[in-house]
Amino acid sequence: MLKVDLQGGFGEKGRTSIAVSDGKTRVMLDAGIKVGATGNEYYPKLARPVTEIDALFISHAHEDHIGALCRMIRQGYTGPIYMTAETRTEMPATLAQYADPTELRDFQPPEAQIRLFEPGETVSVNALGIETGASGHVVGGVWFSVEGAGRRVVYTADIVPESAVFPMDPLPSCDLLVLDASYGADPIPGAERARRIAKWVADYADGCLLPTPLSGRSLELIAAIDVPFAIEAGMREALSVQIHAPGAVHAQRVGVLSKRLAAARDWSVDDALPGCPLLVHDGMGVAGPSRAALAAAELAGYPVLLSGHLPKGSPGARLVDRGAAAWIRMPTHPTLPENLALWEAAGCPPLIGHSCDAVALDALREHISALQTGARTGDSYQIDKETVYAHSDFQ
Ligand SMILES: [Zn+2]
Repeated sequence: MLKVDLQGGFGEKGRTSIAVSDGKTRVMLDAGIKVGATGNEYYPKLARPVTEIDALFISHAHEDHIGALCRMIRQGYTGPIYMTAETRTEMPATLAQYADPTELRDFQPPEAQIRLFEPGETVSVNALGIETGASGHVVGGVWFSVEGAGRRVVYTADIVPESAVFPMDPLPSCDLLVLDASYGADPIPGAERARRIAKWVADYADGCLLPTPLSGRSLELIAAIDVPFAIEAGMREALSVQIHAPGAVHAQRVGVLSKRLAAARDWSVDDALPGCPLLVHDGMGVAGPSRAALAAAELAGYPVLLSGHLPKGSPGARLVDRGAAAWIRMPTHPTLPENLALWEAAGCPPLIGHSCDAVALDALREHISALQTGARTGDSYQIDKETVYAHSDFQ
């Protein structure tokens, strides 16, 4: 028997986390925060105290997957924290922006607890085997497959099967698939969205603002736009590391990405907005230099294109709501055809969607009847022989 506790990101976007147990060993996958939430809602809802967790695995360094790490340490978690080298490199910047300031000061994840692995490696924790693979979502981002008691659950974390930039390792077949349902049933493939973004940017080649998270979407945007552009100067080093990390980017893309990055002008928050497209992080206007850049753009009537998730009330969302910014999704999660293909490749198992609300889940269920649309944070699933049972309140 394997038990899966849905600790965050189910029927909601943010604080993504699950725990998997065979009754003896317990592993937790991801510890995110939820932008826009306050109090306990900001953090995962843990099914068991942190002292009962044998190992914690982090899929990538986005805030909705890693932001609760200092909270875990504060609560007394002393076990191993598995992540890739790229995730460890990006972790401090994400925690600095999204952890509680007091916890950030007093409860940094201790070096001695961090264990590095490479995508494709399998880690054993007692009788559980945790297989990993490149997720195609960001450099160093992975999916997890937990096998125990003859059963297997796959948690995709954030995944992009058809990224123009990042390769993805195929998922193993499984008894339960916990899938990235961020986009619900959005049918428009990434390549089509990238074309639309390229056209929008070309139309505003003499100056526009492109807020983007530092990892993942930034390289997707650089691959898509083919006019001269500028970047916030602090992004250069991180983007260069991402491009050149071994095996992290499709080999045939490394050349063009490095060339475009080398040609990009540097911009700093104290400078006037440039006469060319400007990439600045983060993607929502919540943190980083994009807060100041968005405010300046709004004052100046400088065109803005948002291209990712915008939490309600975030500066980016407020601009789009007022019609003061455009929004075209740059897919950094699977769209409908990709989700169908992932589910079929996994052997058409029962399916739970993470990182979206109930409306998006209902839309996706029109296309995948195995989707358990009622799955919510606080529910548990038990995988027994051929059957998957659902329980509420972590029963
Ligand atoms: Zn992500």
